[in-house]
Amino acid sequence: MSGFEGSYLGASDKISAKAIMECKICWTPYDPAEGDDTRQVLPGTPFLDLPEDWTCPGCSAPKAQFLVREDPGAESAAVMEEMARRVAALEADFREIFNAKMRDVPMVNHALHVAAVGFQPWEGGFLGVLVAPWFMNLVLLPAETRPVLGAGEKEVIAFPSGEYEFLHNAREMVGPYLACSLFSPMGDFTSQLQAVDVARAVMAELFRSENRAGTDRAADIRAAREAELAPPAPEVEATPSRRKLISGGLAG
Ligand code: FE
Repeated sequence: MSGFEGSYLGASDKISAKAIMECKICWTPYDPAEGDDTRQVLPGTPFLDLPEDWTCPGCSAPKAQFLVREDPGAESAAVMEEMARRVAALEADFREIFNAKMRDVPMVNHALHVAAVGFQPWEGGFLGVLVAPWFMNLVLLPAETRPVLGAGEKEVIAFPSGEYEFLHNAREMVGPYLACSLFSPMGDFTSQLQAVDVARAVMAELFRSENRAGTDRAADIRAAREAELAPPAPEVEATPSRRKLISGGLAG
């Protein structure tokens, strides 16, 4: 690769869709915001999405001769890469717990599997919902700068929709994390799809300030769901109503 030192080759996953490139022979830039009207390339086309036979509009050099001039999206690309790595470790850790300890426990719901849902960058760390056959938790993979408390220590974190109580914990692969219990056990969920739908609804409601009311939002989510389950409601269609319910629960 040394022959291409400084080019994007070999590091195509390191440049973002916003990267502005330039030809290292004639310095002609390629700016994705402008595209390339000499070749009918539309504005908004990332450099990596240019056709393989695209060449420099100035000197006809091939794509491989282009270097990064400026990459406004670089930081977020690196952040998303870190998020993917930490979320994968989280899933791997809980899959391992399932296989080692939970698989034969009666309370587990075998219709479900471990899945991280809706993770997004938040305050230097990553926040999302972890679905497992025996629980659904809001999980914060914290920024390195966030103080780490001992396992089982509580921390209340405020979101636009209210305050949520998290427990500190740590695992071998994940490292330190904070978890706020939403549901456990998971016996009422009939499918993975349904659990994932609820997880996505939770992430959406978390950041809606119009839902703010009182404290302990996780308890409200549980209470709302229990209210739905208590009286048999024959006309209720499971997934959409559950989604509405969580919105309604947080709103109420
Ligand atoms: Fe050129």
